[in-house]
Amino acid sequence: MINKTNVKNFFKTYGYWVAFALSIALLITIVTIAIVNKPAPIEEDFTPVVNEEIKFADPLADMALMKDYSNTKLQYSNTLKLWQAHKAVDLAAEEGTDVIAVLDGTVTEVTYNYLMGNIVKLDVGGGITVVYASLASDIPVKQGDAVTKGSVIGKVGKTAKSEASDGAHLHLEVLLNGESVDPNLYLDLSAK
Ligand SMILES: [Zn+2]
Repeated sequence: MINKTNVKNFFKTYGYWVAFALSIALLITIVTIAIVNKPAPIEEDFTPVVNEEIKFADPLADMALMKDYSNTKLQYSNTLKLWQAHKAVDLAAEEGTDVIAVLDGTVTEVTYNYLMGNIVKLDVGGGITVVYASLASDIPVKQGDAVTKGSVIGKVGKTAKSEASDGAHLHLEVLLNGESVDPNLYLDLSAK
């Protein structure tokens, strides 16, 4: 019964349907592969053990939260034209505003980085290091200095090239045992 003419007639009549069915099957296969191979969402399993007793002094006398901390949520960088996690808080302030030691501590590093500008790292004990970035060039402290809570460790600048279009601000990062944690754990920005 199956001869060439029958096959020809079959495709003449049902050719489009066969093509359609094959397309659907292909589509389902592609979608299935895409779902199976979908990369796992980036999530940090690192849960900081936060000492609730530790409370920071305000790093600026007058500040406005400009960009909040985000661990996994991507935020758009106007300067870099890309989405990235912002593991710090950006506090808007006039250029030249005093930047304050949030706790007693020791300056472990005074450095410059093209992307983050002038940086002061302050070890405040308890495994916590406060990283102040985008500071003005005029930095009154040096590595090894012991500073007291409330003392001036620098001035607000706009030296962080990666955040240049955000204007003058303090980029404040908090490291707990070397890992970025949310500065809001130690700071009260809610009323700002
Ligand atoms: Zn920032």
